[in-house]
Amino acid sequence: MDPKSRAYLGVHVYACVRFVLDIWHSYLGRRIRWFFDPAFRRLEIIPLVDWDNAHAGYGYLELGASDVGGVLRPYALNFDTIAHEVGHFISLSELGIPMITSREADFFPFSEAFSDCVSLISLLHFDSAVDRLLRRTQGNLLLSNELNRFAETSPETQIRLATNFRRMSETTREPHDRSLPFLGAIFDSIVDVYHRQLVREGFADPRLLDVDLRELTLDQFDEFRGLTERSFRDRSLYFKLALETARDQVGGALAGSLRSLDPNTMTLDQVARAVVAATVDGVAAERLEANFVWREIIR
Ligand SMILES: [Zn+2]
Repeated sequence: MDPKSRAYLGVHVYACVRFVLDIWHSYLGRRIRWFFDPAFRRLEIIPLVDWDNAHAGYGYLELGASDVGGVLRPYALNFDTIAHEVGHFISLSELGIPMITSREADFFPFSEAFSDCVSLISLLHFDSAVDRLLRRTQGNLLLSNELNRFAETSPETQIRLATNFRRMSETTREPHDRSLPFLGAIFDSIVDVYHRQLVREGFADPRLLDVDLRELTLDQFDEFRGLTERSFRDRSLYFKLALETARDQVGGALAGSLRSLDPNTMTLDQVARAVVAATVDGVAAERLEANFVWREIIR
């Protein structure tokens, strides 16, 4: 079947939506009821329209195509985009539709950040994505040069967006821009929890967790990197397990936070505190809180 045929695009979108829903069904511990459930029983997927965008609407998911130098790339083939839109369905279904009139409300940056987190965490459920991330960085996600080099050339938008260093005071009022520190804090927490497990297993140097990475000498840097690289070569399965555990602790906390949030009155500070409160693991909770504080979300 031609991957650009309409029939294939429809099946591909359906499979991606199903994949993301299954993951978040598990994190939430219950089935997701569409927020449009009273009006429509099923989600309608429109795999290709003449439009350079994708959109989650009331009862439908509509996808266009981007035009890159005359080559049409259907969003129906883009997992990042589909998973992001499913993220909007999940947050609206769990929280309800907000009755807000102000464009300044924190619900909007929250909603973009949550959707990017859904996309990022769902991507990390593909073996191929985790394998590539770990192989290209040799297991070293904390020595950020490695990760940033990977992210810069990564075809996945959510990895590029997640490796940002923005704090709240450096953002504009635009919701996508304001959502970046939250996404960054979530990604940093996954990386932190992952590295703490490596240290516990003896696969990374414990000093890595205490030093300011910007102040490392080249020798120290090489020493730290060397230990992790050697361990990764011989024990790559443990690295994968550590990353998957970190992913699920943070994913579960994000899903759990939805239970206590009101979309009409929420602030990003409240959302961050709700995520910390919903974290089961003590180390993960401590890392999430520290990263939200560094991002100036928790004040
Ligand atoms: Zn969005």
